[in-house]
Amino acid sequence: MSTPAYALLLRNGRLLKANAPEPIAADIAIADGKIAAIAPNLPGTAQLELDLEGKLVSPPFVESHVHLDSALTAGEPRWNESGTLFEGIEIWRDRKQDLTLEDVKQRAVETLKQQAMQGVLFVRSHADVSEANLVALQGLLDVREAVKDWMTLQVVAFPQDGIYGSPQNEGLIEEAMRLGADVIGGIPHYELTREDGVRSIHRIFELAQKYDRLIDIHCDEIDDDNSRFLEVVNACAIRSNYGSKVSASHTTAFGSYNNAYAYKLLGFLRRSQINFIVNPLINITLQGRLDSYPKRRGLTRVKELWQQGMNISLGHDCVQDCWYSLGTGNMLDVAFMLIHVSQMTGRSEMDACYNMVTWNGAKTLDVENQYGIEVGNPASLIVLDAIDRFDALRRRSTVRYVISKGNLLASTELPQMQWRA
Ligand SMILES: [Zn+2]
Repeated sequence: MSTPAYALLLRNGRLLKANAPEPIAADIAIADGKIAAIAPNLPGTAQLELDLEGKLVSPPFVESHVHLDSALTAGEPRWNESGTLFEGIEIWRDRKQDLTLEDVKQRAVETLKQQAMQGVLFVRSHADVSEANLVALQGLLDVREAVKDWMTLQVVAFPQDGIYGSPQNEGLIEEAMRLGADVIGGIPHYELTREDGVRSIHRIFELAQKYDRLIDIHCDEIDDDNSRFLEVVNACAIRSNYGSKVSASHTTAFGSYNNAYAYKLLGFLRRSQINFIVNPLINITLQGRLDSYPKRRGLTRVKELWQQGMNISLGHDCVQDCWYSLGTGNMLDVAFMLIHVSQMTGRSEMDACYNMVTWNGAKTLDVENQYGIEVGNPASLIVLDAIDRFDALRRRSTVRYVISKGNLLASTELPQMQWRA
């Protein structure tokens, strides 16, 4: 009997499992783009065999919230010197006058490559659909097709200026559904009135059901403790039975609600089981700008939501644009910041933060059926220079190998430090 021949064999890995704190020793065999076998000391040969030397094998990172249409524009046409959301909006208004299909596509692909080289193989990006020509949306839909062999990209139709902010916007967001956006977005706290905000949420649920799409709403991204659209999103999710298909992004005002209201709301949220998306890098810099001291952290109640069993995943939000000029696309940076800002420093809490950039993100994006290192699944995985989740987070470990659908997509050499004294 001959031994099996695979396309790719990964020897001596430490395989991370969703619900186990410690990884397990295993070889992983890949054939026809899929995981063919997982076991210690697998028999067989392969066209390419890699000795992982005990390094950590993880499912790929998931970026749950980014704006690829504005990525890599920091400093164009000028830098955001005040650092505020409002100066950012003014700068973007000027920059988007120059937006072309090629401009959007070139920057989006460049950003996706940077993300992929750092182990991100699933990305949800918002596309501003407040412009009559829908150039940002069309550009990202083209990119979704162009990168599909190595990256799963979801596109959200995001009405940056509100669905009722100007007369054409409601038609534009429905047109975005017809053109094929995966997800419908919203920004109720930026509508002209509270009533418009509530109405916009009802309209989003109507359209999502009409076109069978997911929902991801920029919700209460403000320090105003009276911004209470999350309760409306949650109520719509309960009544439509749409819970796990709904995500509330940011919800930073939740961090400012009084406890009596916050704990009542937590109970209601358990009924819907909606997803939460948290963007700690940008919210720690944008929120609390109008505070004197003590200054708020501008983050939703991550630890409490996690303790209630809610699904939480993470995003960069911005990579080098007028709202956040930093950012590299590295999801370990995002989780690292979250650990600090949400004070989730217990060992199991830090492990949970790692899960927020992996398995939880797959749940948010509703891609669990193609995610995870199991026999028969698409062979998409990463190898980190780490021994476990904590080590990966503490050192923001280098991603040594990125394998997408069975292909070796990227590799990185480890930096060499030498003591010279
Ligand atoms: Zn955003």
